[in-house]
Amino acid sequence: MSRSEETKAILLKELNGRRARKGKVPLEAFPEIGCTSCGELSTANERLFEAAAAPYIRTCQQCVLGGYPFRKLRLPSGEAVEWYRSNPTFHRSSDYGIVLTNCALYLFSPFWLMFSRWRRFEIGAIRGAEFRDSGMFPALRIQLQKRVVSLRTPWDYADEMKFDRRNLAEAAERIRAVL
Ligand SMILES: [Zn+2]
Repeated sequence: MSRSEETKAILLKELNGRRARKGKVPLEAFPEIGCTSCGELSTANERLFEAAAAPYIRTCQQCVLGGYPFRKLRLPSGEAVEWYRSNPTFHRSSDYGIVLTNCALYLFSPFWLMFSRWRRFEIGAIRGAEFRDSGMFPALRIQLQKRVVSLRTPWDYADEMKFDRRNLAEAAERIRAVL
């Protein structure tokens, strides 16, 4: 069995566990179309997000928004996720989150106060976005009309911080592309 076949077998087992908890019939094979997290086929205009490292993993928007830290994000109807990132490592007690939709940018920081951990910024209100690197505190800086909002990622192992830097730099690029 190849590495990806092994991974698919594990993912199928997890997928069927999730389906069983929802009272849905198990799938016999790893789905080649549709969402590989819930096993449902998407509707015609629904987008599936591919995992960069494993393109056979595809997630529907509902499943993306069902995981931490996206679970508490409520999107207005008609708003669709276009890009999202987080770094769900097991050793971290909390994670950051970045979501770009067709209308707005959403940022989640564990450093912000409990009641406002997800913040929404209309794309029309954003003047600029940049990635500011620093050894300890790499950050995404969002320039609004009168202030700057900064999302910094946690101090961590070098590999994790490298992954975070890539996320922050890509976020800045993608935001600038829609301004
Ligand atoms: Zn799904």
